Amino acid sequence: MPSALVTGGSSGIGLAMARMLRDEGYELTLASRTREKIEAAAGELGAHAIAADMSKEEDCVRVVAEHVDRCGGIDVLVNSAGIGIAGTVESLQAKHIDLQLGVNLRGLLLVSREAIPHLKQSKGWIINLASIAGTGPTPGLTVYGATKAAVIALTRSQNEELDGDGIRAIAICPGFVDTPMAEWSGIPPAEMIRPEDCAEVVRMCLRLSPNARVPQVVIERVGSRDFA
Ligand code: NAD
Repeated sequence: MPSALVTGGSSGIGLAMARMLRDEGYELTLASRTREKIEAAAGELGAHAIAADMSKEEDCVRVVAEHVDRCGGIDVLVNSAGIGIAGTVESLQAKHIDLQLGVNLRGLLLVSREAIPHLKQSKGWIINLASIAGTGPTPGLTVYGATKAAVIALTRSQNEELDGDGIRAIAICPGFVDTPMAEWSGIPPAEMIRPEDCAEVVRMCLRLSPNARVPQVVIERVGSRDFA
């Protein structure tokens, strides 16, 4: 049975991807910060739950090790844990810079580092949640946009470095998606991209032949120009 590890799996896009992977027959581990939330999500999907803080290296190492111990390997890594804090270039607070870099970039890199030896065995996929905010200027969300631009860049490097190993990586770059993270926007939920739209992109990738990869997908919100 193939298996998948989903960080940020308690909510929003990660949870929608986990549901899709469950339906596609994957054995699942879900990891996120708050124990009650990750246990509730995992309970719904028959998945294994791990409470972990992706800004801590030891937690990044632990989630991959626990998943591999249980499942014997890993076929799909979904890096969906993420955080966004508003702030202009003039008003940045060091703790907010550190938190966003720590989860969105450093944590994603460290979980990937740990998973790569196992993904080489399975010729698996790395699904990185970037954002449309990484593709253009993000006034008022400066650090968030910078972390997402970095995720797009590192996904390109993952594909180049791992080309001979059969591992493929994709940076998914949506506009506003109807999840708790986007509530602050004031955009009516009915006008937002659905988390399931992001999951469908992953389902499509998993159906490709081993000779094809999709390094980046931008999902635009119809009727908008969200940070594009
Ligand atoms: P969400 O708030 O519903 O989910 C975020 C998840 O990340 C939660 O499971 C949360 O527990 C987890 N998380 C946050 N900090 C963590 C930490 N320190 N350690 C472990 N887990 C942590 O948001 P979402 O919209 O589903 O976001 C998922 C990803 O998609 C994020 O990387 C986000 O930047 C990206 N994204 C979201 C949107 C949007 O509009 N919602 C658009 C583009 C990209």
